Formats: sequence, structure tokens, C-alpha cells
Amino acid sequence: MSETIFTKIIAREIPAEIIYEDDDVLAFNDINPQAPTHFLVIPKKPIATINDIQAEDAPLIGKMYLAAAHIAKQQGFSENGYRAVMNCNPDGGQTVYHIHLHVLAGKPMGWPPY
Ligand code: 5GP
Repeated sequence: MSETIFTKIIAREIPAEIIYEDDDVLAFNDINPQAPTHFLVIPKKPIATINDIQAEDAPLIGKMYLAAAHIAKQQGFSENGYRAVMNCNPDGGQTVYHIHLHVLAGKPMGWPPY
């Protein structure tokens, strides 16, 4: 897989507002927030799209959601709620080809996302 901007954030080659890190996962604020709170949870392992997730990655994907829920509790928006979504390929709206969970909070989210 080719290097992306997120690989560079993991390597601290470009700056980001990092809000959570463990051995497997990193979370940082989105540079172009679409809600009062908008951060991204990424695996340190580079996986290009949802389509590239392998069976052995299942625990890693679970850890991404656990990190999202942990941060939601820490930042105090667990109860009001939030959206956690991954985009896949062009029709899904994906622009960075290193999977990432968007976590959006701080306002009621619309549905459908059109
Ligand atoms: P996608 O469109 O692939 O689902 O989401 C990519 C997200 O990455 C976008 O919300 C975009 O604002 C964010 N993003 C792109 N480049 C950077 C960057 O250099 N730093 C940060 N913090 N976010 C970025």
C-alpha cells in the first residue's frame, strides 16, 4: 500500500492534534471538522479500504470502536450520542486510502446522509 497523509501523522512527520494513542490505534482531530467534534480513529497498520480488511484484522477493527467509545466517554458526549462511520471508495466519499473511523458529535446528525 502506498503511503498516505495518515502514515505521516502516525510517524509524526506532519503535525496533528492527537487525542488518543495505544499500540494499535491513533485518534486525532479532523483538519476540516464537519461537526463541533470531529475526530478520526485509525489503525497504525495501513489498510487501504474496508474491502481490504482481512479476517485477522477483526480485533483491530474492534479496537478502533473501543477507542471511539472511550474518547466519547472522556469528552462527555457518550450519552447525547454521536456518529461513527467509515467511508469506502469514491461513492462512499473516501479520500484518504488508510481506513479511518469518523467520529462526529456535538449536534444531532441528519439521516439519510444523501
Ligand atoms: P474521507 O473523505 O477519506 O472519509 O476522510 C478523510 C478525512 O481526513 C477528511 O475528513 C479530511 O478532512 C481529513 N484529513 C485529510 N488530511 C488531513 C490532515 O492532514 N490532517 C487531519 N487531521 N485530517 C486530515
